[in-house]
Amino acid sequence: MQPQEQQSSTSTDTNLRDDTQAPRPRDARLNLLSCSLRDLETLVTDLGQPKFRAKQLESWIWDKGVASFADMTNLPKALRSELEAHTTLRTSKPAASLHSSDGSRKYLLRYDDGVSVECVGMPSGNRLAACVSTQAGCAMGCAFCATGASGLTRSLTAGEMVEQVIHVRDDFGTRVTSVVMMGQGEPFVNYDATLAALRRLNDPAGLGIGARHLTVSTCGIIPMITRFSREPEQFTLAVSLHSAVQRTRDALMPGVKRWSLLRLYDAMGEYAERTGRRPTYEYALIRGVNDTDEELTYLCDFCRDTLCHVNLILLNATPGSHFEPSSQRRANDFARRLESVGVETTIRNSRGTDIDAACGQLRQRMG
Ligand code: SAH
Ligand code: SF4
Repeated sequence: MQPQEQQSSTSTDTNLRDDTQAPRPRDARLNLLSCSLRDLETLVTDLGQPKFRAKQLESWIWDKGVASFADMTNLPKALRSELEAHTTLRTSKPAASLHSSDGSRKYLLRYDDGVSVECVGMPSGNRLAACVSTQAGCAMGCAFCATGASGLTRSLTAGEMVEQVIHVRDDFGTRVTSVVMMGQGEPFVNYDATLAALRRLNDPAGLGIGARHLTVSTCGIIPMITRFSREPEQFTLAVSLHSAVQRTRDALMPGVKRWSLLRLYDAMGEYAERTGRRPTYEYALIRGVNDTDEELTYLCDFCRDTLCHVNLILLNATPGSHFEPSSQRRANDFARRLESVGVETTIRNSRGTDIDAACGQLRQRMG
């Protein structure tokens, strides 16, 4: 069988912890949610079936969204049992779910190797956004992040990422209109699987979500930002900045210390030039740490005259952390100053704070 679940990539440049060494999912069956039509054609031909079966299979997986091979009534029984034996359509079970008073719902999904990840559905009018994890845990060790505190368990496969979106869709009973890869994990140390997932989500024969509505958030793995800028699709990029002062950022985000802010600045300039798209900087305001006047001046200098958007958010306090969120008034000060130097800025309201929606918190609580 040719098509393989794409798991992860390593970069010659990054010298990051090689996540191909990390444990794999126990279920080695091919996850059909990660397969393109070409992959499905290879699969059915390998199983001795005519190519047109792939189209039928694709339609069952995506248009009709069935979760069981038994429902694929126009496929021969023999093919259905082969598929049952060698492939899978769902690999996780919901282990917990929490509903927020603002309408968002958070889920903990557990895979059969015991690994669990979080995903969130956030409705707004007739739109529904899904926030997806790309790894179970994370090796980057950001000081303010609940996920970073427990390290990396393993990277997720493309199919496992897509499945989170499908879970959100099925639970809300409506189409997911945008996806942000802002759950647990660092997507750019799991690059190939992340891109494969984005392509399934984007494919009109898959979930058909427009590329601009598919966002990847990275802590700033420079070689992968460069690689991402060369992808043909118009996917959206967000970078977690959190400080434009080198020593502050090094302390908050030790995992990206090796790439200076100057290199980030250059890489983002190149990204904007090459793609013409406006990247977002995520900035979680932490009282007394990155919300001082000096920090604001550096942030304005970093952003002014560049194509970017700054998303300010008040830090989500996590249990056991000594960091506290800044005040709303301070967030307003930041927004006003940034706007005054021509930088497009929003203050993002954290969704689902009553359900531990901040990255990694439900998983931390549930174990
Ligand atoms: N690893 C990627 C994507 C997952 S984290 C990244 O770091 O960008 C998604 C976003 O949540 C990032 O912007 C991250 O910095 C932010 N985040 C993590 N912990 C947070 C907290 N306690 N409060 C506010 N934002 C947080
Ligand atoms: Fe990892 Fe992102 Fe959390 Fe940093 S903020 S530890 S990169 S998930």
